[in-house]
Amino acid sequence: MIAQRTLKSLTRAVGVGLHSGQRVELTLRPAQPDTGIVFRRVDLPEPVDIAVSAEAVTDTRLASTLSKGQAKVFTVEHLMSACAGLGVDNLYVDITAEEVPILDGSAASFVFLLQSAGIVMQNAPRRFIRLNRPIEVREGAGAAEKWARLEPYHGYKLSFEIDFNHPAVDSTGQRVVFDMSTDSYSRDIARARTFGFTKDVEMMRANGLAMGGGLDNAIVMDDYKVLNAEGLRYDDEFVKHKILDAMGDLYLVGHPLLASYSAFRSGHALNNKLLRALLAQSDAWELVSFDNDKLAPHGFGQLVRAW
Ligand SMILES: [Zn+2]
Repeated sequence: MIAQRTLKSLTRAVGVGLHSGQRVELTLRPAQPDTGIVFRRVDLPEPVDIAVSAEAVTDTRLASTLSKGQAKVFTVEHLMSACAGLGVDNLYVDITAEEVPILDGSAASFVFLLQSAGIVMQNAPRRFIRLNRPIEVREGAGAAEKWARLEPYHGYKLSFEIDFNHPAVDSTGQRVVFDMSTDSYSRDIARARTFGFTKDVEMMRANGLAMGGGLDNAIVMDDYKVLNAEGLRYDDEFVKHKILDAMGDLYLVGHPLLASYSAFRSGHALNNKLLRALLAQSDAWELVSFDNDKLAPHGFGQLVRAW
């Protein structure tokens, strides 16, 4: 059986929110089968649980935000990406502020936390969303065109293309394909950091955003070059971060996907629109599990390798 997974023990981290700049404590705790991933605002007078779902995503400007009533959790995508990459199904995420800490700006710190706590199989089958036919969403035209698509695939594959007209990005790969069966998420995708441009950062700061952002948790560029002294972690770190983000955004659907995702200039908003389009067409997908590991896609039965 391809089994659900949770943590062996709890683990903690302290950091700052990328946008709020607020100090936040994060505790990741094991959860029972079929719990899913549940964010818990433990700082509110009455703790509020927000279970991940495509419908719980209420704001996609700059980051994916979940809401329930007045309670919000900003910037969930990098932690969600680590959970998708390591195949964690059930998890409580206790946080003491409204934003998940940015840590190093990638998913690597979350991968490290999850791996250190240990990941265990549970006595319940993983339920995957399997695509039966393609789903696509498109926006804009010409230079503003963007799209995202899910197609049937026996496994999980992502292909992303960006189109940044910037010397530092132009000189790197702008398209990357990643297949989960390669078992290389931690090594090849998780370390890609978020990125921004100094001129945007100044504008965001004036609007009270990116208050926690800096050279230690983002790739920052001026009009010509990368400003981080240590340079890039991957030659194609920019587009790899977009794959990382897409994996986090798509895992908000609440189940791992059996699909091929491809996207051109997509982002948090279009990724969520794609999930909503998928869920709205109930004949386009079905929930499946694998009693026999041999019928599952290659590599889906084992725990993912660290680094
Ligand atoms: Zn990101």
